Amino acid sequence: MELESSQKGQDKIASENVIPLEPLEEALISQAAVISDRLDVTSRDDAWLNALVQRMRTTYFADVPQVYPIVAHFGRRAHRRFGSIGARNHTSILRLNGLLADPEVPLYVLEAVIAHELAHYAHGFGSGLTRRHAAPHRGGVVDKELEQRGLALVAERAKAWIEREWEAFYQSRCADLLREAQAKQKATEALWREFLAAAGRRTLADIEQEMGYLAARIGFFGPLPKVEWLYATQKQKAPSYWLPKRQVLHLHGLLADRRVPDYFVQFQIAYWLTRQKEGAKWSAIQPKLWEAGLRSITQQALDWRHRWNLFVMKHHPQKKAK
Ligand SMILES: [Zn+2]
Repeated sequence: MELESSQKGQDKIASENVIPLEPLEEALISQAAVISDRLDVTSRDDAWLNALVQRMRTTYFADVPQVYPIVAHFGRRAHRRFGSIGARNHTSILRLNGLLADPEVPLYVLEAVIAHELAHYAHGFGSGLTRRHAAPHRGGVVDKELEQRGLALVAERAKAWIEREWEAFYQSRCADLLREAQAKQKATEALWREFLAAAGRRTLADIEQEMGYLAARIGFFGPLPKVEWLYATQKQKAPSYWLPKRQVLHLHGLLADRRVPDYFVQFQIAYWLTRQKEGAKWSAIQPKLWEAGLRSITQQALDWRHRWNLFVMKHHPQKKAK
């Protein structure tokens, strides 16, 4: 792809005609320097997108060396992800949610997403540049970068539009995907119910009894938390989760399978009870478990943890249905 020098890019944008806008919008834009409103848009295809990305780059990120060339394209429709950037074969692939090609999405939303990804690029993610941060979003580094480059207002406008409009927009465009997701969820729930109802499973009554016994050993005298089976997706790999708002312990449904050792289940319960008393630090939790005589359970459970991951991969009810 041919690249404009930053100076040429700036001149070109400044000399182009501005589409008339509402006074308030115009005021915002004169501060935010939204450039895509000045691009001649017929339809938002990949060629148009690449031109916009290059404009954004030469206008706001001209000082960032281009180690990997950037190729942009509209990807699949997505609910939560607006954009991503990653390297493949020494090329930086900038992907935008396919829904952003819809003319109803304001151009400043696309600009904000592109700016966000270009900030990652500048920080060494997907660009071949040296990484400037250990994690792409830690400490608000992207927001800071956008602010320094005069892109904070564009980002703010985009955020406001997304908060106001995105959900309804998504539902209007993706009824098919929503129906699919709903059907999939129902099927998953049915699989889990069948799994949990099979003969020989641990029941919630078994778990509650165990919890009562462990609570006494630990010295947990408050009302016992509620326990529910988690109809886990294959991405939810942790054996247990704590839901602080509802004060509910979620146990992965596969813990009902008696091939999972008792000590592994007991440890999940003991861990969360102790954590309610002692706080989240393992260095505070571990001595209390040992004091309660649960040292061997704890050690065995920690040893079994890697087996758990294999167990989930092998025995997840969705796995068998396939
Ligand atoms: Zn990001």
